[in-house]
Amino acid sequence: MSLTLYNTMTRSKQLFQPIDPARVTLYVCGPTAYNRVHIGNARPAVIFDTLYRLLNTLYPKVVYARNITDIDDKIMATAAELGEEISSVSQRYAEAYFDDMAALNNLAPTVVPYATDHIPEMIDMVSRLVAKGHAYAVDNGVEGEQGHVLFAVQSMRDYGSLSRRSLDDMLAGARVEVAAYKKYAGDFVLWKPSADHEPGWDSPWGRGRPGWHLECSAMIEKHLGDSIDIHGGGQDLIFPHHENEIAQSCCAHDGKPFANVWMHNGFINIEGEKMSKSLGNFRMVNDLLQQYPGEVLRYVILSAHYRSEQNFSKDLLDSAWRSLDTLYGFLRSQTAVVAAPCDVSDSEAYRALLDDLNTPVAVSELHKLARQMHGASGAEQALAKGRLLAVAHLMGLLQQDPEAWFKGARGGDTISAEEIEELIAKRNQAKADRDFQTADAVRNQLKELGVTLEDSREGTQWRRD
Ligand SMILES: [Zn+2]
Repeated sequence: MSLTLYNTMTRSKQLFQPIDPARVTLYVCGPTAYNRVHIGNARPAVIFDTLYRLLNTLYPKVVYARNITDIDDKIMATAAELGEEISSVSQRYAEAYFDDMAALNNLAPTVVPYATDHIPEMIDMVSRLVAKGHAYAVDNGVEGEQGHVLFAVQSMRDYGSLSRRSLDDMLAGARVEVAAYKKYAGDFVLWKPSADHEPGWDSPWGRGRPGWHLECSAMIEKHLGDSIDIHGGGQDLIFPHHENEIAQSCCAHDGKPFANVWMHNGFINIEGEKMSKSLGNFRMVNDLLQQYPGEVLRYVILSAHYRSEQNFSKDLLDSAWRSLDTLYGFLRSQTAVVAAPCDVSDSEAYRALLDDLNTPVAVSELHKLARQMHGASGAEQALAKGRLLAVAHLMGLLQQDPEAWFKGARGGDTISAEEIEELIAKRNQAKADRDFQTADAVRNQLKELGVTLEDSREGTQWRRD
């Protein structure tokens, strides 16, 4: 079985061949911890979590690193606004991010490096880049300019290869006013000076702090090595962030390749429109989780191919919820069937995932397997259930007890599970007393509260609508 992945660098699908099959390395750019994350930040986390799960079925050891940027001007601005310490703001939002990601059934990455824990490594990398002639420190004595260290993009022959932009294109597209201390307009910041009131670390260029691009290069070098197998992130990071990571890492390592495969997920639109500040249509994961189970969000993300643009809408979320109800409904109806152990690689869904992570096909296979399980009997049914659960596990879906799924809180619930059980007991008593009027009244009362009762020989089951 072989895995093929689309590589943004070559703009083609290629067979995945790890540098060292005994230790496969995956890096994904994580969030800047200054607010709650939106659904656009959740997409790469779910996509690369699925890839991580898949790689784990193929190789004995996969090291997956996803960083936290905990020093950044946006965090500093938020801290100033709230009158809080920078570290308390970044810690709070990093933890909120972990909670949100766990709610989407994402596994914890192997390593979660924080930028501020790697300042010596970053200073070391900048020093090497300066020594090799790829970077220069501004030494003009001008306050606010002195102490910048910039990467000299003209020192790198194939700068721009990932985004396929020439230096001229990049400059033509740049709208920012070029700082006078730059030798060349396209040069980017590796290290910048900090004013007294700003956080900073001592360095050979004075007290300062790292540029954003540098963080990932230094953390990758430390935790994964000079060359890694797969680097992932959102498509919006291709330029300048990933282009600059390549420049820093390749030049620090004398031209050694940085990442063998570059993977980028597409954008998420909301009700047909781009998410933007001006439209104010950001959908925060935390808000969505008040209305939908995290598994619904995961199902929606996996129902589109990661490279395509995805349109998020209320209809899509509602229909994903119904689809999961269907799947869990099949599982609930077969609770008594003991799933047979199953080799996940023996399924169409697995083959679809090996083909550049074709999750939409894998999702539709889940439905096929569920119907097969429903229609089968005996050993065949046990096998179908085993296969369904194995494939679902690989995708981080259907991991709950079906009963718990239907009884779980759904946005706007006005009655607790205990109260429902009490009312069902009251109805059972009424039926035993042949007081059918009371029994019906209880059923109707529950219906109005969004709870449906299903009577069978085994007793009464309930579900929230
Ligand atoms: Zn990065």
